[in-house]
Amino acid sequence: QNVCKDYSSNGSTLRAIDNISIDIKDSEFICIVGPSGCGKSTLLRMVAGLEPISSGEIHVAGKKVTSPTPSIGFVFQEYTLFPWRNVQKNVEFGLELKGMPPEERSERAKKYLDMVGLSKFKDSYPHQLSGGMKQRAAIARTLAVDPDILLMDEPFGALDAQTRNLLQMQLLDIWKTERIKVLFVTHSVDEAVFLADRVIIMSARPGRIKEIIDIDLPRPRVRTESDVNQLRN
Ligand code: ATP
Ligand code: MG
Repeated sequence: QNVCKDYSSNGSTLRAIDNISIDIKDSEFICIVGPSGCGKSTLLRMVAGLEPISSGEIHVAGKKVTSPTPSIGFVFQEYTLFPWRNVQKNVEFGLELKGMPPEERSERAKKYLDMVGLSKFKDSYPHQLSGGMKQRAAIARTLAVDPDILLMDEPFGALDAQTRNLLQMQLLDIWKTERIKVLFVTHSVDEAVFLADRVIIMSARPGRIKEIIDIDLPRPRVRTESDVNQLRN
């Protein structure tokens, strides 16, 4: 609600987020697109509690966000798995923090690894996985703690087109079963049209919303040239 963010450096101030208000409905999938530097990551980091807000307020599940919490899940573009833990232990990490008993933890991690199709790789270490597999493990780890919202900052940006398409479909399957709110930043209009209920387009002038578009296409979606072009225009 009326969120602003000012960055100060070298004596000058940059308004990176300029009075933005968004209301995310239950189990809504929102994509944010916009040119480089328009404030997408800043906005997401503020929702995650990773970046202090200059003014305004952010609430997740009725609680004011003041610092990072496991109930706000964040998946970054760069894979953020612990290299010294195998896949299973990576997914169990947040559950350990929550104090969940080992057996329950292990069961829950297995369920989420199964969901992202990584059961066979539970004993592998991150360096033994492909980029797409690492990102799937990161998604499983984030979802296992049952967050109120899933924030994703260009999570598939570093992947090849085929892997990206596969992960998009997998993410939608998971989103349907988990009924979770998703705020997903992407550079790709095509990706936004494929995934989102609503697309927030930010303007080149930093920190402003240019337009919010409802994507009234049935799911599962087929990408057609005309859908994508319509939004691009
Ligand atoms: P991209 O698409 O390239 O990832 P973005 O939309 O995510 O861009 P942000 O990273 O949110 O953009 O940055 C928004 C603006 O705020 C940019 O002008 C950037 O230079 C500035 N900015 C971001 N982080 C900081 C910081 N820690 N200190 C000062 N300025 C910052
Ligand atoms: Mg960014």
